Amino acid sequence: MMVPVRCFTCGSLIGDKFATFKTRVKLGEDPAKVLDELGIKRYCCRRMLISSVDVIDQVLPFYSKKTES
Ligand SMILES: [Zn+2]
Repeated sequence: MMVPVRCFTCGSLIGDKFATFKTRVKLGEDPAKVLDELGIKRYCCRRMLISSVDVIDQVLPFYSKKTES
C-alpha cells in the first residue's frame, strides 16, 4: 500500500498517523474527529490522509482485476 510519509504542501510528518486514521475510519468513526484527535489541524495535511483513503479504496478493485487476468 502506498502511503505518503509527509504532507506534499507543508512537509509535516503524517505517515505514522495514516494506519491509525485508516483503522479508526473503517471502524465507523468520523474522519474529521479522528484527524482532530491525531493533531492534524492544517487542511493540507488533512487532505493528504482523506484523499489517500478514498483513492486507495477506489483503485484497489481495478488493480486486483488487472493482476488476475
Ligand atoms: Zn500539510
